[in-house]
Amino acid sequence: MPKLITGVGCPYCGSSCDDLEVLVSDDETKVLEVHNSCIIGSNLFHHANDPTRPRLPRQRQPDGSIKEIPYEEAIDYFAKTLLAAKKPLIYGFGSTNCEGMSAIGRIAEKAGAVLDNCATICHGPSFLAMFDNGYPSCTLGEAKNRADVVVFWGCNPMHAHPRHTSRYSIFPRGYFTGKGQMQRTVISVDPRETDTAKLADVHLMLDQGHDYELFDAFRTVLRGHDIPDKVAGIDKETIIKSVDIMKKARFCMIFFGMGCTHTDGRNHNIDAAISMTRDLNDHTKCSIMAMRGHYNIAGPGQVWSWQFGFPYCIDLSKGTHAHMNPGETSSIDLAMRDEVDCFVNVGADAGAHFPIQAVQHLKKHPFIVVDPNFNMASEIADLHIPVRIAGVDEPGVVYRMDNVPIQFKAVLKGLPGVPSDEELFDRVYERMCEITLTQPIWLAAKENRKYPHNTNPMVS
Ligand code: SF4
Repeated sequence: MPKLITGVGCPYCGSSCDDLEVLVSDDETKVLEVHNSCIIGSNLFHHANDPTRPRLPRQRQPDGSIKEIPYEEAIDYFAKTLLAAKKPLIYGFGSTNCEGMSAIGRIAEKAGAVLDNCATICHGPSFLAMFDNGYPSCTLGEAKNRADVVVFWGCNPMHAHPRHTSRYSIFPRGYFTGKGQMQRTVISVDPRETDTAKLADVHLMLDQGHDYELFDAFRTVLRGHDIPDKVAGIDKETIIKSVDIMKKARFCMIFFGMGCTHTDGRNHNIDAAISMTRDLNDHTKCSIMAMRGHYNIAGPGQVWSWQFGFPYCIDLSKGTHAHMNPGETSSIDLAMRDEVDCFVNVGADAGAHFPIQAVQHLKKHPFIVVDPNFNMASEIADLHIPVRIAGVDEPGVVYRMDNVPIQFKAVLKGLPGVPSDEELFDRVYERMCEITLTQPIWLAAKENRKYPHNTNPMVS
């Protein structure tokens, strides 16, 4: 009998929907149906059925061909390559669970690596602004239950976070927003007429890259001063009208995305957005939230802040303390300056999403990819190690875009012999300890380990 699993989390976007229902075959090896998800989430679960999913590590041979090798060999290569490198870079982690993120911390510390995540090319500028100016935010539940004015600034959830508007921001009927969409005024700030902009009551089609000026104009109006007739391509009257809507809100919610973090100004745009949020709190209640991309990209910020004190761009090469300085210790900057001599890509695709010059530099050195699937990075890698898919055949904790932790389930049994990220990293760490004849820290204390294949004589 097929089995219906309810309360399933979707391991795709930062909405981290946890209301999916997945029908699986009676032997729990195949996804038959996915209910409640958007098409992206549905595709992700069905993709787990793909019979061509890699089941063994694949290593590039001297003649350029690829050969499958046993896990033990891959783990040995991984450990030795990291130990031989002077400054390895370990990057990714948008798409894995917090258990894996925690386990890689031990490896990074032992290797003296730089540890970075996808925030470095995504909401990293938002972190910089938060360090400077704070983060007056809330949870998505508060937005759903209270927000009667919703601003989407430089983001397009209808495409990037498809169920965001139906679960949290526009359509749901909340405790104080019982009429759902009827009770909400939606403002979209975007140079394009996106599908989100089409839903909005007001669309400010600003000149691309002029967000900072527009934030400034909003703040100037909020403080009762005059502005020019046009700012960033938007009429004065439209700006005044929009500010008025936001001021008169009972609860104003501002969501922002790559339109602010990837355009001129970057962190300064977010800085201005946070200041505007603070200004609005002189008149009403207002919160701001980054539209985090991957379902658990908030995870490394949480886990590594707890482990090392910093959310991303963490340089552990000093051996005694962690150091963070985006611009100096960020993945792209390190790659462009050719400052790293080994690259490990985990749960992300640097091959597809890094600038080509950065990839060309990284490719000069050992290039290891840990990913359940084939992708551009795996195809140019020296070693590709398949792992389980977090949220599909491996459970774990994830942090939603509002930093709310959610326990994701596994719906499938998982491919035989394929480890989780956590198990793989623990085995690599153990191997590094064996090679360096050192006592593993933390690992011995993991009494409830799910995989008791201790091969290290140093572990009692
Ligand atoms: S909105 Fe995002 S988390 Fe929700 S089902 Fe779609 S892809 Fe998955």
